[in-house]
Amino acid sequence: HKALISRVSKLPAQTVDGVSVQVMGNIELPEEVVAVRDHGGNGIGLYRTEFQYLSRSGFPREDDLFDKYRDVVEVMAPSPVTIRTLDINGDKAVSYFRSHQEANPVLGLRAIRYCLNKPDVFKTQLRAILRASAYGNVRIMFPMISVVEEVRQAKAILKQVAESLAREGTPFKADIDVGIMIEVPSAAVMADVLADEVDFFSIGTNDLIQYSLAIDRGNRHVSYLYQPLHPAVIRLIRQVADAGREKGVGVFMCGEMAGDPVHLPILLGLGMDELSMNPQAIPVVKNAIRSLDLKQAREFVKAVLRMKTHEEVEGLLREAYGPLF
Ligand code: PEP
Ligand code: MG
Repeated sequence: HKALISRVSKLPAQTVDGVSVQVMGNIELPEEVVAVRDHGGNGIGLYRTEFQYLSRSGFPREDDLFDKYRDVVEVMAPSPVTIRTLDINGDKAVSYFRSHQEANPVLGLRAIRYCLNKPDVFKTQLRAILRASAYGNVRIMFPMISVVEEVRQAKAILKQVAESLAREGTPFKADIDVGIMIEVPSAAVMADVLADEVDFFSIGTNDLIQYSLAIDRGNRHVSYLYQPLHPAVIRLIRQVADAGREKGVGVFMCGEMAGDPVHLPILLGLGMDELSMNPQAIPVVKNAIRSLDLKQAREFVKAVLRMKTHEEVEGLLREAYGPLF
């Protein structure tokens, strides 16, 4: 692995037919940014920001958030850092957040729903993110969007925060890129509508698989149904990719599915512009991209889309790309 890292980390992730793909890292702790850089990542595709909230007994202060975000942004500059706003509750819960018990927390007051319900908590984080944007290349990403109203409301609050920073004379990047995670089936289906509101999509397959096939992503009794290559999942991804391409919106993926090279012919064939993964996977994925022909992958995807089961998709992959992986 060490040899692969040093060989591949400086090379571009470019297909045989010359198309570049951005290979990015997912991080949770600010210090993980070093691993992304050292593994040759082209930026941070997902900075999960829950840790600073879960590791203490009350909400963090704006300055504490800002310090951590700025650290990450400065290390990666001029490469992009995609900071995802708070995705708490659901599977990432801590007592001081909860004002009530929920029977189905992953279907409850989670992520963007929680933030829109607690605008003060949301504004504090948005201020910290915008302030950090003055130190490098920051993008903002909203998690768990299920309807377009949520995007509009989140953007309206972001605008308020930006205006108050401007009044104070605090520096920030005014034309910061704003994107959403596509991880709820309704968002994938409505991607053409959502595309009019944002600069990029990032597909969160961990939740998209959970919600589209109705299986708890942490329940081993139904884990046989957790299949990234299920045709239902692939069709949803295609819908997002097609809508993004048509509307000129970047189409990225930051779920676990993006970090397994086996999935590359399908993901690149569908048109992902950027893949984000745990830092250790970056050299492996980069290396695999360098042996793929994109035109061929696009043809391959047409056959994939005719399959009826995940096993058929896997069989097709083995047949066409077996020797590669
Ligand atoms: C996802 O759902 O794919 C994702 C990247 O978000 P998380 O794993 O943090 O829910
Ligand atoms: Mg998710």
